[in-house]
Amino acid sequence: MAHLDTREKLAILADAAKYDASCASSGTSKRSSVGGKGIGSTEGMGICHSYAPDGRCISLLKILLTNSCIFDCHYCINRRSSNVRRARFTVDEVVRLTLAFYKRNYIEGLFLSSGIIGTSDYTMEALVRVARTLRLEHDFRGYIHLKSIPDAAPELLEEAGLYADRLSINIELPTEAGLTRLAPEKDGGRIRGAMSGLKLAIDDNKDARKHYRSAPKFAPAGQSTQMIVGADNADDSAIVATASGLYDRFGMRRVYYSAFSPIPDASAVLPLVSPPLLREHRLYQADWLMRFYGFRVSEVQEATDDGHLPLDIDPKTAWALKHRGQFPVDINRAPREMLLRVPGLGVKSVNAVLRVRRQRRMDLADLGRLTRGIEKLRPFVIASDWRPTALADRGDMRATLVKPAIAQLELFG
Ligand code: SF4
Repeated sequence: MAHLDTREKLAILADAAKYDASCASSGTSKRSSVGGKGIGSTEGMGICHSYAPDGRCISLLKILLTNSCIFDCHYCINRRSSNVRRARFTVDEVVRLTLAFYKRNYIEGLFLSSGIIGTSDYTMEALVRVARTLRLEHDFRGYIHLKSIPDAAPELLEEAGLYADRLSINIELPTEAGLTRLAPEKDGGRIRGAMSGLKLAIDDNKDARKHYRSAPKFAPAGQSTQMIVGADNADDSAIVATASGLYDRFGMRRVYYSAFSPIPDASAVLPLVSPPLLREHRLYQADWLMRFYGFRVSEVQEATDDGHLPLDIDPKTAWALKHRGQFPVDINRAPREMLLRVPGLGVKSVNAVLRVRRQRRMDLADLGRLTRGIEKLRPFVIASDWRPTALADRGDMRATLVKPAIAQLELFG
């Protein structure tokens, strides 16, 4: 490996980390340095919170420890056989960079991943050392997200959880067949085993903290994972089924969907083009339906056409169009569960409807003040002054709900 200075390494290792989408910093516990204790905070003024339009958090120092790797996953730019320039940070360099960026208020924390060098344990140990040094030697109170190596010794994952807010292990591909084909050195059983170990440790810690307030926190922002979309032929139906299983079995805080991006010198087994980024967006919408709107995975699957979520309308609208008999919904009488199924009504709007209708009957204008999508709502609701006239039976209704296409910017264009 050529001798590189820190700036050159940063250019290589920050660029190499951009393919990982799972860096949102939501859901951790509050820590701050108000009062002169320690450095950093997971909240508060002065910290640069910045999110890309598709929801990706961009205020973390997001880097790899190294982009060298002994594995040869076909979809990965850092794979062994890839012809990229390699670099490797020392533990001290990552610590110094994190502190320097933090003090300049460029970042709110660190997202650290790595290719596998030497052995899984050796790599994981280095990742843990970064987090340990930041927390114990520098009293760093900012956010830390560590990508964990599933094959690493459980003791290392357990130690990582003492310093990191969030731990994540990538499931990589939606199906076992996809993993075998595109990442033959990875073992789906081991990945799930490591996720299961983390869930156990997180649950035990929650339990311990209920009884002993002094028990140290373990990964307070939980665990997350990432799935690559469009690198194999898994359809959206299979993807949401896998995601649902990950939430149920391993208590994932988030499953991230990352549209496959063609990489230089790509393996011949990969598709030549990436899937539309809108597909990734629809998967996130479907994910939210399962997590916040009470949809079962089978209901999300009902919204698909031949296994794929439609791109022209959102999954909730697609589901509603296939269940027209359940609409229109009376906003003044319907239970919360049914209001949540109305296209265009979000969780906040539903909560507002429930609040307002305790005081008075709501008309369409009231609803219009709660949502930006009143046109979309009309066919699906009854209000005190509004009842749709058999609109739900119109054959062309889907066309009326399609928004004019907006050109989407490429994330890595
Ligand atoms: S193990 Fe990770 S870094 Fe290495 S090739 Fe596979 S995906 Fe890339």
